[in-house]
Amino acid sequence: MTTNATRPTDATRVLVLNSGSSSVKYQLLDMHDGARLAVGLVERIGEETSRLVHTPLRDGGSRERTAPMADHEAALKAVADELAADGLGLDSPELAAIGHRVVHGGLKFSAPTVITDEVMAEIERLVPVAPLHNPANITGIRTAQALRPDLPQVAVFDTAFHTTMPEYAARYAIDVETADAHRIRRYGFHGTSHAYVSRRVAGLLGKDPAEVNVIVLHLGNGASASAVAGGRCVDTSMGLTPLEGLVMGTRSGDIDPAVVFHLERVAGMSTDEIDVLLNKKSGLVGLCGDNDMREIQRRIDGGDERARLAFDVYIHRLKKYIGAYYAVLGRVDAVAFTAGVGENAAPVREAAITGLEELGLAVDADLNAVRSGEPRLISPEYARVAVAVVPTDEELEIAQQTYSLVTFPVDQ
Ligand code: ADP
Repeated sequence: MTTNATRPTDATRVLVLNSGSSSVKYQLLDMHDGARLAVGLVERIGEETSRLVHTPLRDGGSRERTAPMADHEAALKAVADELAADGLGLDSPELAAIGHRVVHGGLKFSAPTVITDEVMAEIERLVPVAPLHNPANITGIRTAQALRPDLPQVAVFDTAFHTTMPEYAARYAIDVETADAHRIRRYGFHGTSHAYVSRRVAGLLGKDPAEVNVIVLHLGNGASASAVAGGRCVDTSMGLTPLEGLVMGTRSGDIDPAVVFHLERVAGMSTDEIDVLLNKKSGLVGLCGDNDMREIQRRIDGGDERARLAFDVYIHRLKKYIGAYYAVLGRVDAVAFTAGVGENAAPVREAAITGLEELGLAVDADLNAVRSGEPRLISPEYARVAVAVVPTDEELEIAQQTYSLVTFPVDQ
């Protein structure tokens, strides 16, 4: 399908779609001022109990519908109905484009891209390296194209920000022919968030992103760190898949790959069982049974040893990455915490930075305790390196990238 990338200038709205295997999250934004017009979520697609929660932000109150939605098409039609009921229908001439979060863009996509048949074919070719995510993203795109075939649809890739990593950071030290034959290398994920946060930190410091070196710690249920030099990613902790790197809610992060052979040979586990173990039953949940940092903190406060150990393992890994990326960058201007844990868990921020004073890093206890939805510094004035909390906003970033592309198209 070829799309027409020229839009009337009064079309300032962008619909952002994040399609999972059984869910669709969406936001409608007006790029005139970045305001959200509506946000919502459809979950349990394909089940009898599918649920849509829709919140039109100018009028407040959420609406909820529970009704079977057999597939993504039914779900998106229901979303379109809800938007239309608020006068925000997808047929509106004010809608400029639909921006899709696409998890894996491989090496080919280093920037947001208007979706054509060729682009779809490439996203499909990447399914073997992103079997859980890319198929759902493809379904979301196809459904949206069917609803508005005339509208530019833009893919914004989670991997794009990391394509600037130097080859020596992206390569695993394994046989080159085998790696290349199977596209095995480090791609990194959460790129939209790392891009957004590293730029916002520069703004917080009153500097141009090209002038600052930042370590971004995206600590959500999934977690990743990145080293960003002058606005370009030079290393990141996730690899071929999101399993590598930090300790996460349910993922192990770094382990000796020989653990996998050992589980196969000694524990008799199948490849699929090990996949589930490392992705779904490891990390914080594997160590202590909980993956919610709030609950872990409550348990620690009550003297729970397993929760304490899980926290300590989590922090130890985080510190190792801060140290490693300090060395990679050589000079660090800021460390930025973001996502659910990074934005909210003051004890995690404090523990991760404590002991790093020789590196110029420190946290001010009072500033760290402040609860706010705004980007802010939590380091004392004397600290050589700024420590910041920057709420991430992947939807706004996707909308901005989408809108820029359709408003000022570049040759692709
Ligand atoms: P994802 O997008 O990866 O699902 P989020 O960025 O929404 O994750 O982060 C979710 C996690 O954030 C929760 O699992 C929980 O551990 C943590 N979290 C959320 N709020 C708080 C809080 N107030 N204190 C500590 N941790 C929190």
